[in-house]
Amino acid sequence: MDSPLPSLKIGEVEIFWLDGGQIRLDGGPMFGPVPKVLWSKQVEVGDDNCIAIDNSALLLLTPSAKIVIDSGIGNKLTAKQDEHFRVQKPWRLPESLAQLGLSVNDIDIVIPTHADFDHAGGLVSYDSAGKSFLTFPRARHILQKKEWEVVKNPDRRSAASYWPENFVGLVEGENLEIIDGDYQVTPEVKIFLTGGHTIGHQAIEIVSKGETAVHLGDLLPSKNHLHPLWVIAYDDYPMEVIALKERLLPEYAKHNAWILFYHDTEIRAGRAILSNNPEGISFSETII
Ligand SMILES: [Zn+2]
Repeated sequence: MDSPLPSLKIGEVEIFWLDGGQIRLDGGPMFGPVPKVLWSKQVEVGDDNCIAIDNSALLLLTPSAKIVIDSGIGNKLTAKQDEHFRVQKPWRLPESLAQLGLSVNDIDIVIPTHADFDHAGGLVSYDSAGKSFLTFPRARHILQKKEWEVVKNPDRRSAASYWPENFVGLVEGENLEIIDGDYQVTPEVKIFLTGGHTIGHQAIEIVSKGETAVHLGDLLPSKNHLHPLWVIAYDDYPMEVIALKERLLPEYAKHNAWILFYHDTEIRAGRAILSNNPEGISFSETII
């Protein structure tokens, strides 16, 4: 049967892209130091200088666990925030799961790559009375120690996108597992600490039956960020992001790994191959 959602199989792991909402953000910061004359050739830009940003949370069905990576913008935005972030499509994570015959209660593990609102906004939901509850009530949520420290005590810059309401109800040692560095989640799924975008940013590698996929989170927001120097202004440590992309992308391309995207509006994943272009890699196939 055809999947109702974009999907990809990596050995024994099935990957689905869920509908975490679409916003529009100023294209300038999304391409950091890159002049508009260059980035506007790669992506459609409106009169408002904004570009479309998807927030496609991933569902991984592994033999032993149902895992959600990142959680979209959530349902807690105020009317003012809706306007500010130009929400084009609402958050429909539970509805996406329902399309697969699943519910939020089926999710065993949630892995936010980091704590920015566009990744952590769906961890906590509001009911119709505005009362908050954990979206995935049974799940173990896994976050890096360095990231959680910032959530608990945000600096002025982080406070703009680490919103306390996105973490209400998460309790260390109960539904929240704090890790420090690399961590094997299931035999197929491994978390690794990257830093770069934020101090405790983590990425996820999936290996099964000789196939590999990697979710680099906001180290690589879209296919338009493959060039190591095309970093975003929201990166806290851009030199680290550049070094990570220079090291990791050719390595994954050597193994023809699938690169999974969260923010791209055109493709969900690309199968990487080494290339002589300035990016150093290109895609031999894509999932749209
Ligand atoms: Zn993001």
